[in-house]
Amino acid sequence: MIENREQDKFCAPLQKVTILGATGSIGRSTLDVIALHPDRYQVFALSANTDIAKMTELVLAHKPKYAVMACSEAAQQLTKAVAERSDTVILGGEASLEQVAADPAVDVVMAAIVGGAGLKPTLAAAKASKRILLANKEALVMGGELFVDTVVAHGAVLLPIDSEHNAIFQCLPPGLTPKGLVSEKMKEHGIHKVLLTASGGPFLNRSQDDLKAVTPEDACRHPNWSMGRKISVDSATMMNKGLELIEACWLFNAKPDQIDVVIHPQSLVHSMVHYIDGSVLAQLGSPDMKTPIAYGLGWPERIHSGADVLDLFKAKPMTFEQPNYQQFPCLALARQAADKNGAAPIVLNAANEVAVDAFLNHRLAFVDIAKVVELALSELHSLLAPNDLTDIMSIDQQSRYLVLELIKRKLL
Ligand code: NAD
Ligand code: MG
Repeated sequence: MIENREQDKFCAPLQKVTILGATGSIGRSTLDVIALHPDRYQVFALSANTDIAKMTELVLAHKPKYAVMACSEAAQQLTKAVAERSDTVILGGEASLEQVAADPAVDVVMAAIVGGAGLKPTLAAAKASKRILLANKEALVMGGELFVDTVVAHGAVLLPIDSEHNAIFQCLPPGLTPKGLVSEKMKEHGIHKVLLTASGGPFLNRSQDDLKAVTPEDACRHPNWSMGRKISVDSATMMNKGLELIEACWLFNAKPDQIDVVIHPQSLVHSMVHYIDGSVLAQLGSPDMKTPIAYGLGWPERIHSGADVLDLFKAKPMTFEQPNYQQFPCLALARQAADKNGAAPIVLNAANEVAVDAFLNHRLAFVDIAKVVELALSELHSLLAPNDLTDIMSIDQQSRYLVLELIKRKLL
């Protein structure tokens, strides 16, 4: 029996992987996991925004068939940088991102672009029935029902990489995922609640007053996780948990009030599922994204991730507490947007992206991120729910424009 399994593994064709956002924190961790399994995975395409130096390194090391930069100028620069050293085909622009996400040769797409820029290529992967490893939560927050419907209609497999959602997925009843997560209903499976854990970020016990002078460097200094700058700021405001709440509603077909946020500063329990019989199932592990990435790549099998094994005897005592919504207004705003649904999550996400970018570029104070998002949600409250991608992009653009104006004119 064991012999047969070994033989099957040996004969299985290599799975071809496209990594959208390859130069980022998740992209590089994905490449680290893939490097442990040259017998199972082959890098097909890598993409990045504008970082030529990092992309040059990745192209030369991983020799993908395609490398895609976000614009044609960056693609030209990369072409020059790797000239005569690589056979990789270098492309630029949004359409090329969609092309490498949907290429018939591709089996798996890691969606690890940060922000709304990831929506279109991830949708292209869904339409092409790929296995999608979803790190890019903003794409699902923006895409909402359209994203989920596209996954189901095309028989794509949607696997959550966000550590909390990956943990929830691992704690859900087995067999719940014939075509991805989204077609099932929580109550029918005896699930009472989902408990979404949150570290509370670097400012867990600081008052709003105390946060007036924080710098991007302070906000990006997460106590447990090493991540890109946008998600680090989102963790500091707890907008990250708010986006994750909306992400969880779509992934698990849940209502916002079926999801509780639990502050767990040690980041060892990555989330939990509370069943109607009183059982609470949790997934634990060291805070390293290589674990959920390996789970998504290998699912339904388990494969090595390269993450440190959690040593419970050396771990800090674990604590759990309720979040303080006054202290973290972004979390409260996200919950309101989740309850309202329609255009609200798109406005919330777009406003937050512009506000965080302004904060990272010293054009907005940390405490004003929540104010900007609140203003955008109230100014745009009458926008109708989107019917299609054109509507989604239009709501996104209107929100971005409004927030840029608010910040430029200092109308806070
Ligand atoms: P990052 O900033 O480190 O990397 C982002 C990647 O996206 C880079 O490769 C960048 O070149 C690319 N990119 C940025 N803007 C782009 C654009 N306009 N067009 C095309 N490509 C663009 O971010 P990250 O920390 O790796 O996070 C990526 C996604 O994964 C985010 O949605 C984040 O919320 C999610 N996520 C990250 C972590 C983590 O631990 N880093 C954990 C859970 C979820
Ligand atoms: Mg997370």
